[in-house]
Amino acid sequence: MRTKQFKSESKKLMDMMINSIYTHKEIFLRELISNSSDALDKLYFKSLTDNNVGIKADEFEIEIKIDKQNRILKIIDNGIGMTEEELDKNLGTIAKSGSYNFKNETEKTENVDIIGQFGVGFYSAFMVSDKVIVDSKAYGSDEAFRWQSAGAEGYTVSSSDKQTVGTVVTLHIKENTEDENYDEFLESYRISSLIKKYSDYIRHPIKMEFTTKEPIENEDENAEPQYREITEIRTVNSMIPIWKKAKNELKDEDYNSFYKDKFYDYNDPVRTIHYKTEGQATYSALLYIPKQPPFDYYTKEFEKGLQLYSKGVLIMDKCADLLPDYFSFVKGLVDSEDLSLNISRETLQHDGQLKLIAKTLEKKIKSELEKLLKEDREAYEEFFKAFGIGLKFGIYNDYGLHKDVLKDLILFKSSQDKKYVTLKEYTEKMPESQTAIYYAAGENPEKIDMLPQADAVKDKGYDILYLTENVDEFSLMMLGEYNGKKFMNICDDKLELDSEDEKKALEEENKSFADMFASMKESIGDKINAVRFTNKLKKHPVCLTSEGGISLEMEKTLNSMPGTQNDKVKAQLVLEINANHPVSQKLKELYKEDKETLFKYAKLLYGEACLINGASVPDPVEHSNLVCELMTK
Ligand code: ADP
Repeated sequence: MRTKQFKSESKKLMDMMINSIYTHKEIFLRELISNSSDALDKLYFKSLTDNNVGIKADEFEIEIKIDKQNRILKIIDNGIGMTEEELDKNLGTIAKSGSYNFKNETEKTENVDIIGQFGVGFYSAFMVSDKVIVDSKAYGSDEAFRWQSAGAEGYTVSSSDKQTVGTVVTLHIKENTEDENYDEFLESYRISSLIKKYSDYIRHPIKMEFTTKEPIENEDENAEPQYREITEIRTVNSMIPIWKKAKNELKDEDYNSFYKDKFYDYNDPVRTIHYKTEGQATYSALLYIPKQPPFDYYTKEFEKGLQLYSKGVLIMDKCADLLPDYFSFVKGLVDSEDLSLNISRETLQHDGQLKLIAKTLEKKIKSELEKLLKEDREAYEEFFKAFGIGLKFGIYNDYGLHKDVLKDLILFKSSQDKKYVTLKEYTEKMPESQTAIYYAAGENPEKIDMLPQADAVKDKGYDILYLTENVDEFSLMMLGEYNGKKFMNICDDKLELDSEDEKKALEEENKSFADMFASMKESIGDKINAVRFTNKLKKHPVCLTSEGGISLEMEKTLNSMPGTQNDKVKAQLVLEINANHPVSQKLKELYKEDKETLFKYAKLLYGEACLINGASVPDPVEHSNLVCELMTK
């Protein structure tokens, strides 16, 4: 028989398990029992539509057997079993490929985090065993097979004489070493306490044989006491899923450890939502808001969804219809009393019950987030750093259909305190003279602060929201206004901070120099729409503003999207010149005396405005020639 090699990542994980210094080796039992429980669920689920299964609902079980003399621990189930190919595929590779990201090979044995971080599943058996044998007969198959491995060298698959459908995992428990006690995993009291600790909620009975000694009565008081052994089989777990228990029976610790086991996270969740309802829909829900996104959260592979149970039986692992996209970070489960067990994915989508449940879940999640924001600002900001971008997309997507759900959950850093503010906080501290909510988009707050337009807004005592993500401006555009206050990009040409009189004077001035501006525009070309004087600049001579709603940042974002190569969006830009800067005076003089120089200066000023905006000069050679010419004049 040929020994097969483990797939390379599995081999690494295997090495890690064998050499593990992980202190919680005991979790292997939880992992194996959970595999068995899944296998039972799968066969039970089949039995609902397939009369050939031939096992009654209450006959599905997991059995743990200990043979102390031979150092053997067996985990036995009458679940769905595995075929030869499945043994090879499931136990020769890590099922959730990609979950294991071995960043640093040298950390291999020290890197214990990986064990806590992901459910390492079946492989954890090697933390306590020097040999593992899996005998399995798949439902619907005539033959049974044996998978066997003594460690990283590889594994074999051969035929097995197992007669009944299901799986037996046989662990050959390691000998004790100087620092490690493995004998404990051969003690029935220890094993049963581990079952109670980690697997109590498993809905199938986990049975174990217990042997107790009973003294045999003896007439002769001086005789050696005699005992008889009594063996009985007991169900160790309570079989009540945690979500069916009453809230007051549960501690944070119970919720958290259930979360970590079930949803492969090594952090405690930030918040837990647990409720039961009766009436229109009868169900229990247990939801968790994680602290950090899972490793694949921002990839295409990530699938949102909640586990869906029907009367305690798992019918779908990731029911996407229960969660809106903007709450896709939520983990958890729903157990409904009303759903039919053999409902298909397709009919489920149109199920009225499910829609009703989803609506309530959304409300609960929203109000939990609002509570977090109110009660624990720091935790909320951490949460927002991890998942906020999804909330902002949620405002923008579906043509703003969900903006009201989300508008009070988003945060932006702002110029006054450089801290996060909500839109509510922003509007509440607006001075009376302020009519709009000001924002500016850019790579980071430092660059935004350098925008020429920022000074005047800040001087007025107005705060500026820093929009540093691509989606930000689009979501504010979708919101349109907050509490009756419109959003205003400080780089928009409609930004007005002047009094009516000042505005009038400027308009007059611009009118009287209309010809000059037209000729300047001509020399710069169609990169801009117009040139004009402005009062909104403090120390800067020039700035670029945009007309018509598409800002420079939006132009960048829109044009970077796939499929836009031939159909570029263009911001309509205006070159604005500080009316109070000496450079304006100079331009006016040149317009009278030296048009040629005026045109050169127009180009120079446009170049400067681009640079200040963080963009590049359209023609760097021409720009630097013009600067040199000026220097040598
Ligand atoms: P996970 O359970 O996280 O998918 P594991 O490494 O624990 O990863 O198991 C890999 C796969 O092997 C499982 O997904 C399942 O398909 C199969 N498997 C493991 N144990 C059993 C079992 N007792 N009965 C049937 N299939 C099993």
